[in-house]
Amino acid sequence: MQITFWGVRGSYPVPGAATVRYGGQTSCVETSTASGDTLIVDAGTGMRALGNKLFREAPAPEHYHVLLSHVHWDHIQGLPFFSPAYIPGTKISVYALLTAADELHQVIGGITRHEFFPMPLEAVPAQFEFHQVEPGVELDIGGFHVTPIALNHPFGSVGYRIDGDGSSWAYVSDTAPFTEVLHKQHFLSGPEPLSADDRVALAAMRDALVRRLAGVDTAVYDTHFLPDEYARFPHYGHSTPDQAIEICLEAGVRRLVLYHHAPTHSDEQMDRIAAEYLARGAIHNIEVLTSFEGMTLEVGPEAT
Ligand SMILES: [Zn+2]
Ligand SMILES: [Zn+2]
Repeated sequence: MQITFWGVRGSYPVPGAATVRYGGQTSCVETSTASGDTLIVDAGTGMRALGNKLFREAPAPEHYHVLLSHVHWDHIQGLPFFSPAYIPGTKISVYALLTAADELHQVIGGITRHEFFPMPLEAVPAQFEFHQVEPGVELDIGGFHVTPIALNHPFGSVGYRIDGDGSSWAYVSDTAPFTEVLHKQHFLSGPEPLSADDRVALAAMRDALVRRLAGVDTAVYDTHFLPDEYARFPHYGHSTPDQAIEICLEAGVRRLVLYHHAPTHSDEQMDRIAAEYLARGAIHNIEVLTSFEGMTLEVGPEAT
């Protein structure tokens, strides 16, 4: 399997002189098997360039599969600009969490309402299909075996373990560490104190994530914050590279890819982060890479 990064930022796009090398587009990753099956994970603004590439490769109706972690803007905003959607006969299957999938048609339809976008979803030539996913309920899509994993993010988010070609990788974004937040968030006032039930639920969520990541070659992980930033924004629903290393170490993951970079981090800061965490990962025998727009990775064989 291969993974290609089309957008690596969180929150909002930041194209500009300070982000030329790592890129300014938001969350979107493409994965493909040797036999040519393709999955798209998240539909942030990076999806526009991916759509143009797919259109150039196959300017004919195709069936695309899009796994969404959740429906925050930085994970869906590229969808209306995905050029294959304007080829009649194209089919686009969108997979998302139950809570999101319930309203997904309205959510996507909402961002293409006539006040916001010239063409409403109903008028787009592609046929859209919406499928709900549930954490732990596995599904097969082409040559991929997909396992959704519950994550700790305001109003919920889901990660995916993706197996194919005898290898596996995981997409873990967006998530906070498993010490606070859960599904409630008071953006300005901070999180409510956790109840005993919340703590049990968070511990179970963390255990399930570690179990699902066991044996994967590569984990692409939300590492939006540096530790000092996290200390200031603990309830924003994102992790630090240190927290990702901790999870990968427990799960025996070979390679960690830092992802969902804070939009405020310039190329120079990203260089420092990349060098620092490459060295920290090496202490634990984990290869830590920092994703950038256009990066392609080959996923190694399943660990035994
Ligand atoms: Zn995000
Ligand atoms: Zn989010």
